[in-house]
Amino acid sequence: MTATSGDTPLPSLADAPWLGRHATQAVLSAIESGGYAARVVGGAVRNELIGAPVKDIDVATTAEPREVMRLVEHAGLKAVPTGIEHGTVTVITDHTPLEVTTLRRDIETFGRHARVTFTTDWVEDARRRDFTINAFYCDRTGAVHDPLGGYPDLLARVVRFIGDPHDRIREDYLRILRFFRFTAEYARGAPDAAGLEASVELAAGLSGLSAERIRAEMLRLLAAPRAVDVVDVMEGAGLASRVLGIAETGTLRRLTAIEAALAREPDALLRLAALAAARPGRTLELREKLRLSSAEYERLARMALPDKAFDPEAPEREAKAFIYRHGSETFRDGMLLAWTNSSAPTDDARWRERLSLPERWTAPALPVRGADVMEAGLAAGPAVGRVMRTFEDWWIAEDFPTEHLRLAYALSRFVKANRD
Ligand code: ATP
Ligand code: MG
Repeated sequence: MTATSGDTPLPSLADAPWLGRHATQAVLSAIESGGYAARVVGGAVRNELIGAPVKDIDVATTAEPREVMRLVEHAGLKAVPTGIEHGTVTVITDHTPLEVTTLRRDIETFGRHARVTFTTDWVEDARRRDFTINAFYCDRTGAVHDPLGGYPDLLARVVRFIGDPHDRIREDYLRILRFFRFTAEYARGAPDAAGLEASVELAAGLSGLSAERIRAEMLRLLAAPRAVDVVDVMEGAGLASRVLGIAETGTLRRLTAIEAALAREPDALLRLAALAAARPGRTLELREKLRLSSAEYERLARMALPDKAFDPEAPEREAKAFIYRHGSETFRDGMLLAWTNSSAPTDDARWRERLSLPERWTAPALPVRGADVMEAGLAAGPAVGRVMRTFEDWWIAEDFPTEHLRLAYALSRFVKANRD
C-alpha cells in the first residue's frame, strides 16, 4: 500500500543511501526487536523527499530512553545518555553518532526548558515540532509517515507553522529565527504571511534568547541560498538589527551579488561581516551577541581591519606581503569585504584578478634561519632574532628575492649593522 498525505501519494525512501547504511538499520532494528517502533525523523526525511543533501540522521521512537539504552547495548552498539531526561540517547555505530529521542508531548514550554512527558502517539510528537515540513517520519523499510499532512507544503515549498503561529512562537521565541532560516533554506516565493505577521508582532521576545541559540540559527540563515531576500524582509520590520545591533541589508546584497558573479559558495561569517557592519570597534559586540568562537572572532576582526593590500590598484607586492604574513584565506576575506564596501561593479575585472592572486602565487618560506645569521658572524642571543626580523621585512619589501648572492649580501649588511 502506498502511503498518502491527503490525496498526495508519499514516495518511498527505500533507496535513500542513509537508510540502507548499516548504522541506521542496526539502530532501527535493535529498537524494533523490543517490540517498539523507531523511525527517522525531521531534516533527513524532509531533505530526501526534495532531493536535498542529508546531513545528520535523527530517530524518533516509542521506546523510553532506558529501554533504548538496553536494546541497543544488547545489540552490541554503544549508547550514551546525552539527554536522558528529555528523552535523548546518542547511539554510536560505525563511529557515527545518531540521536534517538522518545516521542514527546509538551506539558509546559519555556523556550528550551520545555517540560515533557513521553508518549507513544506519533501525532502528539509531530504537533510539538515547529513547521509542517519538519514533521515527517520514515521507517526502516522507507515508508514515509506524515501525520500532519505537511507533504503538500513541502512540494509547494511553503514554510508554515504547525498550529497557530502566535502560540507556537510564545512557546519558544527561537521559532521566529527558525521560521526565517527555513524560509531562506527551503521556501519559494514570499515568507508565509501568517508566520511573518506573528514573527513581527512577537519580535520583542527575541531579546530573551541565549546567544548560542541565536548564533546557530543566524549563521544557518546567512549561509542559505535565499538569505539576502529573507533578511530584507526581516529588516523591513527591524528584526535583523534587533538581533545583530546593526543590519546593513544593502551591503549584504552587494556581497551576495559579488559571490554570485564569482560562483563562490556562500560563507556565513563573511556574510555576517557584511550585514552586521563588522568594523573595528563592532566586532567585540558581535562576538558577545552571537557568542562566536575565538577562531570565528579572530577571523571577523581580521577581515574588518582595513589594509592597504585590499585594493586592486595597490602594487601586487602589497598583496603578496599580506598573503605571506596572514595567509590566503585572510587575504580573500579582506578583499571580498573591501570590494563589497567599495563602489566598484560586482563583476569588476581588476578586483576579480587581484582576488585570485592566491591561485597564481604561493607564499615562499623565509630563505634564512637563525643558524645562517650566526654563520654570518653574530653570536647567539637576542640580536639574532632582531636580524631575522629586519631581514624578513627587507625580503618582503623587495618582493621575495631568491638570488643567493643578493640574500647573502643583505644578511651580512644586517649582521654588521647589529654588531656595531
Ligand atoms: P537541519 O538539521 O537540516 O537544519 P532539521 O529539521 O533536522 O534541519 P534541527 O534543528 O536539527 O532541524 O531539528 C530537528 C527537528 O526537531 C526539526 O525538524 C523539528 O521537527 C524539531 N525542532 C527543532 N527545534 C525546534 C524548536 N525550537 N521548536 C519545535 N521543534 C523543533
Ligand atoms: Mg537536524
